[in-house]
This record gives sequence, C-alpha cells and structure tokens, in this order.
Amino acid sequence: MINVGRTPRTPERPPPDRPASHGAVELLPRVLDALPVGIGVFEHSNDDFRFRYGNRALASVLMLDRMPSDGQSVREVFRDEQDAIIELFRLVRVSREPQTYFAAAGGRVPEENQIWNIDAYPVFSAGRVSYIMVLAEQTDEKLQARQRELLEANRLRQKADHLASLEKAKSEFLRLASHELRAPAAMLGGYLSMIEDESLGPIPEWLRPVLPLLKAKTAQINLLANEMVEAARLEDGRLQLKRKRVELRELLRRSLTDAEPNATPKHRLRFDDRVGHELWVLGDPMRLEIVMGNLVDNAIKYSPAGGDVTAQVSAVGGLAILSVRDQGIGIAAEDMSRLFVRFSRLAPFGEVPGTGLGLYLARELARLHGGDIVAVSKPGKGSEFTLSLPLESGTT
Ligand code: ADP
Repeated sequence: MINVGRTPRTPERPPPDRPASHGAVELLPRVLDALPVGIGVFEHSNDDFRFRYGNRALASVLMLDRMPSDGQSVREVFRDEQDAIIELFRLVRVSREPQTYFAAAGGRVPEENQIWNIDAYPVFSAGRVSYIMVLAEQTDEKLQARQRELLEANRLRQKADHLASLEKAKSEFLRLASHELRAPAAMLGGYLSMIEDESLGPIPEWLRPVLPLLKAKTAQINLLANEMVEAARLEDGRLQLKRKRVELRELLRRSLTDAEPNATPKHRLRFDDRVGHELWVLGDPMRLEIVMGNLVDNAIKYSPAGGDVTAQVSAVGGLAILSVRDQGIGIAAEDMSRLFVRFSRLAPFGEVPGTGLGLYLARELARLHGGDIVAVSKPGKGSEFTLSLPLESGTT
C-alpha cells in the first residue's frame, strides 16, 4: 500500500535567523542524533534534491547500508522508492505545504513487514522552497490508523450503497403498489356510488347504516392510492400541475365536509373564515384537495381523544393562509425535522393508520404551487399546520 497525501501537521516556517549561543549550536546535532525518528535535509538545486544532512536514526529507519553522502541525489538515497519520494518532494514544492508518504508491507518496501511513514516539510529561504526536511518513522501505528480509516470509509460506503438500494426498492414499491391499488379502489368507489343512488336496486335496510362507513373507508383507500401515485410521479419528475382558477374557501370547506365521516362524536370540526370573501388562486384543484385533505385528516387522526379541529382561512399581503389546528397529541420538538420526510412516521402512532407519505406530498405540492407548509406544535397540546399559497394577482 502506497499513499501520498497532505500531512495533518501545520508547516512550521523556520524562525528568522537569530543569534544562538555557541553551546546550543554544538548541542543541536547531538540532540538530533538522540531522536528515534529519522531526520534528513535535502537541498533543492537544479530541479533535483540533494542530500545535505541526516541524523543517526535516518539510515536505520530507511534500511540503508550507510548514511548517504553529502550531495547524493534523492534518486540514489531512496533507490526502491525513488519515484514516490520524488513525487512527494514535488508536491511539497508546488503546494508549499507539508505532505505525507506512506508505504507498508505489500508495497515496494525494502523488507517485508516494514512500514514507513515519511513526512516532508518545506523549508523556505527568500520565499522559495530551498530545502525539504523529512521525518521518517518505521511504525505500524500510522498504518493501523490508516487501515482503520479505510475500513471506516468502506463501511460508510457500503452503508450508503445499502441505503441507496433500499431507497430504490421503496420507489419501485411505490410505483407498483400504487398502480395495483388504484384500479380496485376506484371500482369499489364506483359500486358504492351505484348502490347509494340505487342504480343497482333498492338499498337493503341492513346496508343503510354501514354505507357511510364503507364509503369513508373506500375514500381513504382512494386517497392512499392517489398519494402513492403522486409520490411516485414526484420522484420521477413526472408531476405536472393542471392549473385553473380555484376558490380556496370553498375547497377548504369541502375538505372539512369530506373528512366528517372520519371524525368521532368527540371531535368538533370548525370552519373559521377570516376573509369573508372569495379567495382565488391559480392552482391544480385535485392536488390542492390532496394537500388540504391531508392536513384535515391528520388533525382528526392525531387527536384520538377528540377536541376542536379548526380550519381557518385568512389572507396576508399576496398570500392566502389556510391553517388547520387540532388539540391532539402534538409533536415532540426533536421530531419536527422529520415531519415532512417521505415515509417518516413519528412515535407514538400506535394504531393510527398511515404511510408517512401525506405531509411529504402535501408540502411538495404546496411548493410546486409557489407556496409552503409550516408546522408548530406542543406535545400533548396539539398542532397547527399552515399552508400559504400565492393569490391570483389582482385578488387580495
Ligand atoms: P401518516 O400517513 O403517518 O399520517 P403524514 O406524512 O401525514 O403520514 O404524517 C407524518 C407523521 O407526522 C405522522 O405519522 C404523525 O406521526 C405526524 N403528524 C402528522 N400530522 C400530525 C398532527 N396533526 N398531530 C400530530 N402528529 C402529526
């Protein structure tokens, strides 16, 4: 394994010349010889690097027969590794930063099981890299650290691949399931309508009380199938809005009425009109119905103990503001960031049916309309989801 890269250490430029006491200068070579790390200094001249100094450990760390002689070229000093070291020195010279070279067993090192780590530092004079100082170590510590890094990188890559394949499987499932679900759901709805308007004959008495429930459940399946189709379209970039003039108060009121069968006697569905006149947007009515249907259905679903579910409509500046407020279970602060994530369901959802697609879809659809959805919530106190949509120009 051979590797060349930036060393994490910061370059230390030599201090400006300053007078050193005679004793310290004499002491320095002995101090350097006492170090267990190989130190070598190479001078840059005529596009080559020539050996100028080495401490005692240098020869043994580099497995050399003897200390290189003064002026020997870098090629002669690092015979087996010359290409890599020349490249290392070139990098130091060009980047003017320290660089690291790493060679381990299995690479072209002098002996098996030998591991080198060579850090090369630029030494400047008159702003030029005139010397390169190398610190050479024979240690497996850095190898182990490097191997750990590689293992970790591999593990993360595998995990990312795995997640990507799960993501792909989810999308594939969405596409398949939505198609399989839609046709039978539409057929059920069709038959129920025919039963209701007695096109298939008089409604038997026993069926009357269960008919609304059957219709509500079928509507739920239809909504689910539609959500899945829409989410699949969004993912493929195939979702195109069919815009026309839509009156929002009417749409919101209808969403409340459609949701009535899902509410329990403990729920009070309220419509709070703060504008008192029509509010027009240029939007896709079917998609806006999905958005509002979702917010109202959620408000009912996630307030199992009942309470007010208030749909409020107002306008601010050029925006229509539609909010749906409940007094339900609420959402923990740490879960807020996952609310609009595809397939994300927050604890405790227990017996509440759902796919985790609704809010994702609702916000994407709102954004396609140039609007947005935001949520505020307090656990145990309830939630409020606010949809903003740009009004058709000229209306307020
Ligand atoms: P689901 O199909 O699960 O209802 P949604 O995308 O509509 O999917 O919502 C995602 C999650 O956000 C839900 O599973 C639920 O945990 C939480 N949530 C949505 N609306 C509310 C609400 N009004 N009150 C509390 N939690 C909610």
